[in-house]
Amino acid sequence: MSDPFPSNAADRASISRLADALKLPSFDSGWVWLAGAGPGDPGLVTMLGLHAIATADVVLYDALVNATLLKFARPGAEIIYAGKRRGQQSIKQGEISRQLVALARKGKRVLRLKGGDPFVFGRGAEEALVLSRASIPFRIIPGVTAGIGGLAYAGIPVTHRDTNHAVTFITGHGIDGNIPALDWSAVSRGSPTIVLYMALAHAGEIAAKLMGVGRSKDEPAAIVSDATSGKQNVCVTTLCELGARAMESDAPAILVIGENVKLREGLDWLGAMGGKLLNPDPLKRQDLSDAS
Ligand code: SAH
Repeated sequence: MSDPFPSNAADRASISRLADALKLPSFDSGWVWLAGAGPGDPGLVTMLGLHAIATADVVLYDALVNATLLKFARPGAEIIYAGKRRGQQSIKQGEISRQLVALARKGKRVLRLKGGDPFVFGRGAEEALVLSRASIPFRIIPGVTAGIGGLAYAGIPVTHRDTNHAVTFITGHGIDGNIPALDWSAVSRGSPTIVLYMALAHAGEIAAKLMGVGRSKDEPAAIVSDATSGKQNVCVTTLCELGARAMESDAPAILVIGENVKLREGLDWLGAMGGKLLNPDPLKRQDLSDAS
């Protein structure tokens, strides 16, 4: 079996030089860094995130991280898949937090790498709270979140002064697995644009709630699947069709409802180039520990 994480010393040396030039902090032993890897395109990782990958002793990464980034890890770094995938045995959230604490106490430099931004619907705060309570020093490295960066790659600005002065980010998946208990009327009145994470399964129900409180059935909506990766797919639709289109769409996907969706007609920069501007590095999101 070929090494799933071939490492390149010259690449790591370049990253280290850049980190020095930018005066990035050193990653000290016994620390946990919680970093966002961005939504898919490896180019969307931050410089701090890349520096962390190239320096860590242990990397615990999630299912939505583009594992291409892991090739910059140190040889011998421990790479642990901590993703949750439907229908498969996965590490429990509490177990991940416990592992972070235990590894840091052993004096490791521990990188917790998450898709998008660690503090946006990513349970990064839960892990950071456990670290805080255990008096483990930690640093948060924000990332490009799918609900903003993913829409940008679809040519949909998350705000635009002619369409929306506000935007609301909502998870379609509440703690009990159902849609969150929100005051949908207030959400609708306050949010000309609504961006939904983890909402493919409940899109029809959410659309019905919004139409029930007065949103037009013809309002523009879009589904952006595998945003920023070479497999990105954008489906433009209407609020009343959103549920049906969501059932046909691949995960992960961001859903957006609002007049700003129409701006894609003039702003689809990727489509205008036939998708040629997408990063050609293949998206690697599978659990590499069972890759054959
Ligand atoms: N912390 C992440 C979100 C984690 S919740 C962030 O900031 O982006 C997981 C949800 O994020 C998915 O169900 C999907 O709604 C969204 N998501 C993450 N990556 C995505 C991608 N590349 N394309 C579309 N949606 C994505």
